[in-house]
Parts: sequence; C-alpha cells; structure tokens
Amino acid sequence: MLHRRHWNVTNDFTCVLCHSGSWEDWQHLFFGCQFTQRIWNYLQIQWSAGVDLKQLIRDTQRSFGHPFFVEVAAMCCWHIWKQRNRCIFYGMRPSFRSWKRDIVEDISLLQHRFKPPWIAPFLLWLRSLP
Ligand SMILES: [Zn+2]
Repeated sequence: MLHRRHWNVTNDFTCVLCHSGSWEDWQHLFFGCQFTQRIWNYLQIQWSAGVDLKQLIRDTQRSFGHPFFVEVAAMCCWHIWKQRNRCIFYGMRPSFRSWKRDIVEDISLLQHRFKPPWIAPFLLWLRSLP
C-alpha cells in the first residue's frame, strides 16, 4: 500500500516475516507467507483456496467450526501486523514465540466479551492449542 501511494518509507517492499523475497501485499502477508501459515496452523484455521475474499472467509469460517472465528481471525491478523511492524520499525526478527505469547494473552481476554454459550467452547478450543 505504501508503494502504491508513493510513500518512500522504504525501498524494500519484500516480506519481512519470511525469507522468500516475496512482494509484501495483503495476500502474501496474511495468507501466503510461511510465517503466517505457521500461525494459522497453530490456531487450527485452514484457509480455503479461492479468489473471492468473502467466499474465502465464509468457507474458512465453516471449516473452523466455531462461532468465534471472526474474532479469532481478526485478533490473529492484528498480531501478524504488529509482528511485521516490529520487524520494520524496530529492526526485530520475526518471532513465532513472541507472537504466540502476545496473541494467547490477548485472545484469552475475548472470553469476557463473548455471549455465555460461546465461553465453554472457546475455552475448550483455547486449551486445545499446542
Ligand atoms: Zn512472507
């Protein structure tokens, strides 16, 4: 997006989360990146293939099988973005361990926002994470 808007923050628009040399666009960052794929696997979210984003979300939500998919996926994307920004702005290396620590802490708080019927399945899912 920065490149498209001609903002010269950096001359390197390749993904900082992996060493593939891939152009960092939203598809790569949130779906195609090896680092990101490890994250989705950890959360037991298997993205379906497809080009239509709405259909992709619907299909993946269905296969996830829990009503709190959108909340978990949104929190995950937020933490992917934060991990990416740490690499760019603080020169840190991507770290699955720090991502996991941060998201598990934040995602655990979601239980306080959920409707009562969602809480038990959410906690079961949370405890099932490796
Ligand atoms: Zn990448």
